[in-house]
Amino acid sequence: MSSVLNQHVLVLNRLWQAVNICTARRALTLLFQGHAQVVLDRSAGSFQTYNFNEWHGLSEQEPHPESVRTVSFLIRVPRVILLIVYDHMPKKEVKFTRHNIFERDKNMCQYCGKTFDRKDLNLDHVIPRDRGGPTTWENIVCSCIECNTLKANRTPQEAHLHLIRKPKRPKWRPFVQINFSLHQHDSWKHFVDLAYWNVELGEDVR
Ligand SMILES: [Zn+2]
Repeated sequence: MSSVLNQHVLVLNRLWQAVNICTARRALTLLFQGHAQVVLDRSAGSFQTYNFNEWHGLSEQEPHPESVRTVSFLIRVPRVILLIVYDHMPKKEVKFTRHNIFERDKNMCQYCGKTFDRKDLNLDHVIPRDRGGPTTWENIVCSCIECNTLKANRTPQEAHLHLIRKPKRPKWRPFVQINFSLHQHDSWKHFVDLAYWNVELGEDVR
């Protein structure tokens, strides 16, 4: 029973886009709480959605090997669920860490555009801290020691330096973070293929 509950379930947002993978246990909880519906391919690409009661009814009427029996009822384990209230899922944001700043800037000095080892890069406040420059995604960039020394305690303009790119908070790209191929299941194919086309492309797309 526990292994069935640990199976992977594909999570779709309200636009029917694949956004996550969760365990069957979590999927059934979301279903029970009314936060999600089960998506089932009834006949070659004709998808039906089921709320908890409907899914429970179907599970009893058409017993399926992948079901869980509780004290009082039998319920089939879903493969795909559709979130009704997407906002109930925690919003994922890229954490503002040294590592992630290097990741965003790809170990490239944002003034001269050259790539360095991380140990040869500093984090630079674009607008210097003592001029009120905040420590935020928008005001911190990777800088090589040479550019950093040249810039000193000045703005890029004052130092005649140009940022090669405006620093921004990186966007969360859910499709990049999930390795769907590891968990591929037939009933996911339709949505995972769609995800491939709907993914927001970042600069790191090869
Ligand atoms: Zn540099």
